[in-house]
Amino acid sequence: MIPVVALVGRPNVGKSTLFNRLTRTRDALVADFPGLTRDRKYGRAFLAGYEFIVVDTGGIDGTEEGIETKMAEQSLAAIEEADVVLFMVDARAGLTAADQALADHLRVRDKTTFLVANKVDGIDGDSAIAEFWGLGIGNVYQMAASQGRGVTSMIDQALAPYAEAMGIDRDKELEDPEKIREYTEEEAEEEQKRLQELPIKLAIIGKPNVGKSTLTNRVLGEDRVVVYDEPGTTRDSIYIPMERDDREYIVIDTAGVRRRSKVHQAVEKFSVIKTLKAIEDANVVLIVIDAREGISEQDLGLLGFVLNAGKALVLAVNKWDNMSNDDRERVKSELDRRLGFIDFARIHFISALHGTGVGHIFESIEEAYDSATKRVSTSMLTRIMQMSQDDHQPPMINGRRVKLKYAHAGGYNPPIVVVHGNQVSKLPDSYKRYMMNYFRRSLNIVGSPIQLRFHESS
Ligand code: GDP
Ligand code: GDP
Repeated sequence: MIPVVALVGRPNVGKSTLFNRLTRTRDALVADFPGLTRDRKYGRAFLAGYEFIVVDTGGIDGTEEGIETKMAEQSLAAIEEADVVLFMVDARAGLTAADQALADHLRVRDKTTFLVANKVDGIDGDSAIAEFWGLGIGNVYQMAASQGRGVTSMIDQALAPYAEAMGIDRDKELEDPEKIREYTEEEAEEEQKRLQELPIKLAIIGKPNVGKSTLTNRVLGEDRVVVYDEPGTTRDSIYIPMERDDREYIVIDTAGVRRRSKVHQAVEKFSVIKTLKAIEDANVVLIVIDAREGISEQDLGLLGFVLNAGKALVLAVNKWDNMSNDDRERVKSELDRRLGFIDFARIHFISALHGTGVGHIFESIEEAYDSATKRVSTSMLTRIMQMSQDDHQPPMINGRRVKLKYAHAGGYNPPIVVVHGNQVSKLPDSYKRYMMNYFRRSLNIVGSPIQLRFHESS
């Protein structure tokens, strides 16, 4: 079964443009596809290794009243039969009532939906899309369909669950030169400044009852919350924009604080899927742990998810109020003992209930974000690599000394450093670890993992 991808959005956002781009490689119209109508276009697409059916749903205009009933029947049917919905909005036009109406409709549907902001060519996409977070769909993907920008990576994300069944090696397909950009010193600095203007996507996660809702409420403060009516399904996190100390944030609320206060009264059920999605979408993850319970298997499981995703991380040990000194010492030594593997992350002891220590968490979140997204020039990375080699020579392998040649950035959030040289893939783990720590210290990376990759060069 090949997946069906439906393009949904109000008129003029660029659906046909994307449709044409996706299908142009081969017979655009699949004439014998059942249900072919004039209103819906079906095409077969091949991209990033995937084969899929794409459906252009044509004109859905959410400005009509009562979208449930008025929405064109054809488009509605297309959504129902799709495996994945690409909900397209126009980054230039900004958020419209029609987008909002469509979002409300899609949110209550049990469909995998990706929010795609089109037409980001020639504008500052990151600022333009900020308001779309408010739709509550989740991550906002940037695209310029007419230029083909962002199309491949978006499709790869959307269809990732089908990769295995289709025998696709995502890592190989994703060798995306865009991501492995080499910066000069000047460019790195400029990019760094730009990144600090962007909202930090912060996921607040933790097992049930550790105090996520209490903390989220405290962090948001009643009046800072942007209120939008939010029917929502309990499956999804809610994305709440906020500002603090001149930085912008998107708080990814897995505890359903807004929903709980507005719509449902019942306490939200903990959902692993929701937590995983929140981690994926976040730049920085704040893990909340209950001081009175110590570290549990569940906490370690969540930490594992965050590490696997390579996300920046801050720990909050909550309910620190009203504990005896003995108990505090006991908790601290337990943390030392069991959390050695995340010694790069800052730990805060807080009381969400009283607000103690909460402010300082944000200093660590900023630090973690800045570390995770830090742009470093190729020449700087190569210098650091050289120094690490000078301080401590790599071993001989097969009678020849391993020779490191140069290093450049291979990705961000987490930072990836790619090291080129002779026999580098044969370096022992101990030397790789030494180098990783050397890069971490030299670049002052705190709160984020850092990865090293090695490439043979002759
Ligand atoms: P549809 O009604 O949603 O199918 O939208 P169309 O694909 O017909 O596009 C509407 C208009 O937006 C056309 O004039 C397109 O050329 C333009 N458009 C589509 N994609 C892009 C894009 O990525 N950047 C820019 N600048 N314009 C685009
Ligand atoms: P969630 O399930 O993680 O969202 O946890 P809640 O925020 O609903 O909190 C669970 C319980 O712990 C509630 O009874 C809170 O009042 C309580 N709680 C939360 N934070 C603190 C804290 O800092 N100190 C104490 N003593 N209790 C807290």
